[in-house]
Amino acid sequence: MELLELYLSPLDAQRFQAIATRLPIGIGDAATECVLPFWVGEQDWRRTIIKVLESSQGFRAEHYPEPDEQAWLKQEELLLPDRQSFHAAYLERIGQSLYHSLFPPDSEIKQAFLHSLRLAEQHNTDLHLRLKFAADSVQRSRLADYPWELIHDGQRFLQPRQVIVSRYIAYEALPPALLPQKQLRVLLIAPRVEDATQKLAKLSDTEQQAIHLGLSKAKAEGLAVLESLSKATLKALSADLSQRTETQMPQVLHFDGHGLFGKRCVNSQCGQIHAGIKVDRCRNCGQLLTEPTGFLLFEDEQGGPDYVSAASLVAFLPKGVALVVLSACQSGMAVAGDSVFNGTAQQLIDARVPAVVAMQYGVRVDAVSRFAEQFYRILGQKKPLVTALNEGRKWMGVEGNQWYRPVLYLRWLDNQGGQLFAETATVEPLQVKLSRFQRFEIERLQVELEDLDQDYESVKAQLRVELDAPTQNKLERQIEQIGRQMDTKEQQLFRLKQQDE
Ligand SMILES: [Zn+2]
Repeated sequence: MELLELYLSPLDAQRFQAIATRLPIGIGDAATECVLPFWVGEQDWRRTIIKVLESSQGFRAEHYPEPDEQAWLKQEELLLPDRQSFHAAYLERIGQSLYHSLFPPDSEIKQAFLHSLRLAEQHNTDLHLRLKFAADSVQRSRLADYPWELIHDGQRFLQPRQVIVSRYIAYEALPPALLPQKQLRVLLIAPRVEDATQKLAKLSDTEQQAIHLGLSKAKAEGLAVLESLSKATLKALSADLSQRTETQMPQVLHFDGHGLFGKRCVNSQCGQIHAGIKVDRCRNCGQLLTEPTGFLLFEDEQGGPDYVSAASLVAFLPKGVALVVLSACQSGMAVAGDSVFNGTAQQLIDARVPAVVAMQYGVRVDAVSRFAEQFYRILGQKKPLVTALNEGRKWMGVEGNQWYRPVLYLRWLDNQGGQLFAETATVEPLQVKLSRFQRFEIERLQVELEDLDQDYESVKAQLRVELDAPTQNKLERQIEQIGRQMDTKEQQLFRLKQQDE
């Protein structure tokens, strides 16, 4: 597989810089200033595009109530003049806008991309296009919310035939501590809870059945083991995981349920959840709200809704869990123009989950079934995550409007694009010559990181058994603090490794 890594860095609301940070051998450096698509003057139509991509059933006028929204869709030739249905080539048009944004005509970055593509063709292999986002920019820019997987060069969608897109949030994370597992173990969590206040309806069991079906072949071939959490509460998850030995630990948590990206009121008497990023004050008590974050909707002991933040979920994940898969079928999702799981996926990565596969939009049951079957089968064959993702996409049917929905985020780097098995794990080798001082510094930082990692794990272990809420809060703050220290060290390590002698 040839690798082209593009670092996307925001300049302002509309512009970003694309820098080639890894290129196939023989291709020169490249950097280009790019302009985001779907803007008209000061008007940003990104949310409208997301709604278009979310819908599986075609155009529904009620999803586009804003003045000018349908007119814009018509003008872009995404909507037919009669405003009854999308244009037959609406996905291709969106893909072309993304392509021209990422690879402006005559730009260095386009040249580098075309070269890399040709090289991959000559070598009869795929091109892995890794999009890299700065860890701190993920919070303040929406760059990662664009469906870059859809890029279309005017002739064809580049995925999943020639190009495999993955997303890397740029931490210089150590590769995950992979356990010497013989088989792929997947733990399925499927809360069946509703929350009318957030318009989240109870999900059906069809996706669960689809995943069981999807995995049954891999199971029959002895490639995978699927287990389900009997009660979808955080407490049950914690109890289940803490009873396991290393060899019983799942590498994958598959969460089939609702996600919500938004803000929770910090007033302990209130705790009201607010979806979205726009609301500033609690609608219930008036408290000033903090930064938005990703939540997964678990059940509480009484079967009611329990919003678990990405950060607190991670506190309950032991080492060895290397991948979280987030999905929910279209049936239960509101078409809102917010990519719920994208935000939550980034938050999980931010909270130190090594890899996340998220359905960036709701997926049809039949499509998720086909995806799961092939994705887990390929993973069971100990192939890399990018390969499994791409094969899963192909099985969703390239002709339909489902294949672009799964997205892969990685927190660490390896040449193959994410391994879940210890035997074959490889660390990306250093490509630059380092001085003795640099090597010494790198070693020192790595030792410090390992120490911090131990602290991190021990506070997590305390949190798992702590029942007192104020102490839980304190431990969560501690975890965040250690996490930030680790981030700093990882960034230092990253910079050291980037320097030439
Ligand atoms: Zn409140």
